[in-house]
Amino acid sequence: MLDVAEACRRAAAAFDPYRHTPDADRAAFLRAIAARLEASAEPLVTAVREETALAEARARGELARTAGQLRMFADLLGDPSWAAPKHLPAQPDRQPLPRPDLRSRSVPLGPVAVFGASNFPLAFSTAGGDTAAALAAGCPVVVKGHPAHPHTAALAADCVLAAATETGMPEGVFALVVGEGNEPGQRLVADPRIAAVGFTGSRAGGLALLAIAQARPVPIPVYAEMSSVNPVFLLPDRLAEAAGEVAAGYVASLTASAGQFCTNPGLLFAVEGEALDKFRAAVIDLIHPQKAQPMLTPAIAAAYRAGVAAFAGQPGVSQLAAGSGEDAPVVFQTAVETFRSTPPLHDEVFGAAGLLVTCRAAGDLVEVARSLPGQLTATLQAAPGDRDLAASLLPVLELRAGRIIYNGWPTGVEVVPPMVHGGPYPATSDSRSTSVGTMAIDRFLRPVSYQGFPPNLP
Ligand code: NAP
Repeated sequence: MLDVAEACRRAAAAFDPYRHTPDADRAAFLRAIAARLEASAEPLVTAVREETALAEARARGELARTAGQLRMFADLLGDPSWAAPKHLPAQPDRQPLPRPDLRSRSVPLGPVAVFGASNFPLAFSTAGGDTAAALAAGCPVVVKGHPAHPHTAALAADCVLAAATETGMPEGVFALVVGEGNEPGQRLVADPRIAAVGFTGSRAGGLALLAIAQARPVPIPVYAEMSSVNPVFLLPDRLAEAAGEVAAGYVASLTASAGQFCTNPGLLFAVEGEALDKFRAAVIDLIHPQKAQPMLTPAIAAAYRAGVAAFAGQPGVSQLAAGSGEDAPVVFQTAVETFRSTPPLHDEVFGAAGLLVTCRAAGDLVEVARSLPGQLTATLQAAPGDRDLAASLLPVLELRAGRIIYNGWPTGVEVVPPMVHGGPYPATSDSRSTSVGTMAIDRFLRPVSYQGFPPNLP
């Protein structure tokens, strides 16, 4: 295993040859990584299961997603418009001054540091989305392995390195570094050869790395995906028409993989009334038989327990429904006035914990939406009769969330070109970006314009 400085030195040496590789060669590299991950499915799935307690179907699905997003970026490189080239021909006769020929396109930033996530040991980790986007852009990658799944990380790194050799990529184009404590990751971000950072994890971790990046003699961009409570607005007609169906969708989304998704629906907003009572009764019935599932790490389980205890101890908050066992799903409820005056209730509890916030009138939904901080997602559960209320909420929500969902649930992020998995702070450290979908490549590129050049240069 390389140390941080050596990995950065090799990544910097690889940058020039790598950024000049033809798009088709980088696409072949990405496809070779995908094929090698698939060929290593059995050891990878076993390692994921042993290190994370995630179910086999989830591990296999995540592997397919990881290979799929590598191929998505390979396909992108086959489209000559991926680097956004623009051209305005010269106008030598323009008055009062001639206009020069202007062309622009995007170029890669340089070596990228990637911090993998605890909850997606494949798709958001060593050979995951950030790595795929950076490699597609022409940036070498140094991954700081997540301490919760070192064996999975090593197996995935072996696939990337073997694919690099197979497809003739420059030495140093990829490295995995690991080490005890926060220090190796901090040295990686501080290293002057690193040009950008991709991170998925806690707000504390993301902000610590952002501070280091900004304090460097040459500051660099940090794309940190951190915390989100993903509000869901249950509009009155929808609840009146389908309280049971909405409850079933909610509980399934809240409890999948022990709720350990950054898109978990942590907050529900609804208007008091008969339909909401039906929804509550259905949620109680669905949550009650649920048992605690093992969580990713002891630290995440401890944080879940602390978060649940903090909600339970807030005046004006009561428990609506709970499963059985220490880390079981739980849903709390409170009135909108209490929610607005109690900032700790706005924080993410990572796991299957939900909070139902009840309002007296439909207008309260719009008011409380205005008070919410940035989110990865916001969801409207609405019927045709809720159209005007939905139309009032939409302009508020589009300023606060990266993805807005209509009659669906926020968990389950499609890996497709139009996907946005981002949002204003604290969902991310840079609201202008996404970490999923083809637009994720833009984080590791910058535009350059070429003025007055002959057609055969550059
Ligand atoms: P984390 O503790 O932030 O760790 C993520 C990565 O950052 C790890 O590689 C970690 O490695 C490194 N790191 C953390 N703090 C650091 C610091 N101060 N300086 C340098 N490196 C640091 O996140 P996690 O372990 O994945 O999960 C913990 C919490 O994060 C969860 O309870 C949840 O709240 C949140 N989370 C959010 C998402 C999301 O998608 N938004 C996903 C997963 C988790 P080292 O500890 O080895 O330095």
